[in-house]
Amino acid sequence: MEEQELVYKKESVWKKKDEEFAQKVYDYSKGYAAYLDAAKTEREAVAASVKLAEGYGFVPFNFGDKLEKGGRYYYNNRGKNLYLFTIGSEPVSEGIRISAAHIDSPRLDLKQIPIFEDSDMCFFKTHYYGGIRKYQWVATPLALHGVIAMKDGDVKQIVIGEDDTDPVFYINDLLPHLGQKDNEKPLGTAIPGEKLNLLIGSRPLGDGTDAVKLNILTILNDKYGITEEDFISAELCAVPIGKSRDAGLDRSMICAYGHDDRVCAYPALTALFESLESPHTLMCILADKEEIGSEGNTGMQCEIMLDLINEIAASQGVSSALVRAASKCLSADVSAAFDPNFAEAFEKKNSALMSCGVCFNKYTGARGKSGTNDANAEYLGWLRGVMEKDAIVWQTGELGRIDYGGGGTVAKYIANHNIDTVDMGVPVISMHAPYEIISKADVYEAHRGFSAFNRY
Ligand code: MN
Ligand code: MN
Repeated sequence: MEEQELVYKKESVWKKKDEEFAQKVYDYSKGYAAYLDAAKTEREAVAASVKLAEGYGFVPFNFGDKLEKGGRYYYNNRGKNLYLFTIGSEPVSEGIRISAAHIDSPRLDLKQIPIFEDSDMCFFKTHYYGGIRKYQWVATPLALHGVIAMKDGDVKQIVIGEDDTDPVFYINDLLPHLGQKDNEKPLGTAIPGEKLNLLIGSRPLGDGTDAVKLNILTILNDKYGITEEDFISAELCAVPIGKSRDAGLDRSMICAYGHDDRVCAYPALTALFESLESPHTLMCILADKEEIGSEGNTGMQCEIMLDLINEIAASQGVSSALVRAASKCLSADVSAAFDPNFAEAFEKKNSALMSCGVCFNKYTGARGKSGTNDANAEYLGWLRGVMEKDAIVWQTGELGRIDYGGGGTVAKYIANHNIDTVDMGVPVISMHAPYEIISKADVYEAHRGFSAFNRY
């Protein structure tokens, strides 16, 4: 054999593919950018995904509905979690091909009683959601996205800060002139969670106590018909303002909020739409709550996936256990891209490299692989064969240097149901920062990779 066949080497998608391919990469990324801009929260991602799916003939499914071969269905779980599935022409006893991404991202949620006034400034108190480096969220403009659920069942949709004429929100930081003591603190303690308060006003109404707060409540009541108590049944998220942007002079990357994990959710979706003629029964899951442990009835630990597989199995008179045993899953989640600026946190040989294709993570977890689904070698072997069929540029990585930290995905919750599962996704720079970076080449290879998985 030639040396180049004997030795394993990662190589950039840009090097491996031609100009025509590069054009497809740029074209595909436009659709992804539009999805990012429409979907900053899990609720918005569900709405945007349903809209796309309906364009391909997907119809709502309710438990008890009849399922037919060739049918395209979606189950919208509380507007925060979406299951899309198609019934293939082959018997479902052959298993289901599942791609599972998440659509929640780290952010700052408003507390239930958020408003307070101090020193003629009014603030919203927040509680951070997911793993953030708190110092990154101060002194930057933020928008508010979410819902306020009223007692009468009315649900008000809120987006403030995205239109150029909207006001924005802001978390105060200490000026460097007075930061000498703060500068000595470890990064993780410099900004405590309780200091992440959004500045929302400074103009009083009248001259009583808390007059700025009274003015804010008056504005909120005039505009949305709400009172302070209504925040108790609200889900409002502070997220970085603005649209996704091309990054780099070569426009090879995208800078945006929430690539983790829309950069896998979108290709999982587009791969489903591209695979509608596949003989396999397909399922694409867009989960909520991954960033806080996949808990609750919109997270991946909820039984809904099983309930749906039970319904699909029953519709063809086979056992759900048989279907699950034959099913395969790609847990579609991001990996940490090797960053030469923080090389000490990575082991380069086993890290995902920027633009070197979609990345398999055989395992995630922390310390001695604690808390991970460690995918079976046979399954990875099969997937290597699938990737080869469509000449997908792929790589393998692990989440940083041993004992530097770690992380997890939805993979283990799906694998626990006797389904072969491995993580596959796009490498991200500055994961969980207000704005993250991905390579357009990698997201396109993710799309092609999920699509090959659906079809072969
Ligand atoms: Mn993720
Ligand atoms: Mn994450």
